[in-house]
Amino acid sequence: MPAIALDPATDILGIIDVQPTFMPGGELPVAEGEAVVPVINRLLAGPFAHAFATQDWHPAGHSSFASAHPGQEPFAVVEMPYGPQVLWPDHGLQGSANAALHPGLDQARIELVLRKGFRPALDSYSAFFENDRRTATGLHGWLQARGIRRLFLSGLATDYCVAWSAEDAARLGYQVFVIEDACRGIGLPAPEGGTTIDAATRRLAALGVRIVASGDFA
Ligand SMILES: [Zn+2]
Repeated sequence: MPAIALDPATDILGIIDVQPTFMPGGELPVAEGEAVVPVINRLLAGPFAHAFATQDWHPAGHSSFASAHPGQEPFAVVEMPYGPQVLWPDHGLQGSANAALHPGLDQARIELVLRKGFRPALDSYSAFFENDRRTATGLHGWLQARGIRRLFLSGLATDYCVAWSAEDAARLGYQVFVIEDACRGIGLPAPEGGTTIDAATRRLAALGVRIVASGDFA
């Protein structure tokens, strides 16, 4: 595809949950999760002048943890007051080393670090809204105040926090791009068949989210 020309006034790189907790050796490892770090660093060193990062940031005993639901195993789905919720292994524990942004990430151009998932009874996949789809994180207001119109997303995991962030951004009126090689997914079996990565890819395409590669930038 032709190179994408970036405008520093209106374009930003979003770095979703690049934390050791989601990488091999962490509590909720995404296969090859650490592989996104050098790709994102290249994007930060060159094409992108501005970036924000999100950080999954849970209190102990968070309601998204299987350990908080007696008799339930990780990756089971339960009904919460706000809808279905996948139960995860304990992860993203506030203040733990594995919940920090990955130490290898170049933070010079990361101008905002947004924490999410800190309400004990409510999970937050998206960078914009918690999983009740109503509780705003405040990111939209920050981006609006900065004049941002195009969002380029990277990070973990493609099929959960990256996809939910991309969907919300598209619904809020941003032009949204997912940088595929700067992301890795979990890939659970999807209820409709295939994996949650396939399902997320279909949902994003339906919303006009473009899938691009880190080599596509001018
Ligand atoms: Zn989480």
